[in-house]
Amino acid sequence: MFDLGDLYQQVIIDHTKSPRNFGKLEPCSHDAEGYNPLCGDQLHVYLQIDDDMIKEVKFEGQGCSISTASASLMTEKLKGKSVREFEHLFEAFHEMATADMSEKPDEETLGKLAVLAGVKEFPSRIKCATLCWHTLKSAIEHSDKAAKTE
Ligand code: ZN
Repeated sequence: MFDLGDLYQQVIIDHTKSPRNFGKLEPCSHDAEGYNPLCGDQLHVYLQIDDDMIKEVKFEGQGCSISTASASLMTEKLKGKSVREFEHLFEAFHEMATADMSEKPDEETLGKLAVLAGVKEFPSRIKCATLCWHTLKSAIEHSDKAAKTE
């Protein structure tokens, strides 16, 4: 076991009170909506991707503190990253969220996102933390499909 409790609380409160990159991004190259029926969280994520680089990423929506803080942390982390780096982070985050409590998160890769491992104390809230990641992934993948049919 590792003690992320206090840091977890601090970061969640900070990012819930003043979410980073909150709002609409217009124009944008990618966007998608996500919904977590278990909690009622709704998110809309917007991306501007040029040459496989995430130039800009924003989100809006209504959700609980965990979904808002997670989206805020995610956008902060992903700005300026490549799509490949996003995929790597997605895997790492998903692994952290679904791994056993006793497993230490990959802090080197995740950085501040690792505090969200604290959500595992409340298993029903894990989907609140992963919603933004799945929504962003579907935004990126959906546009690939659209591009192929053109
Ligand atoms: Zn929630």
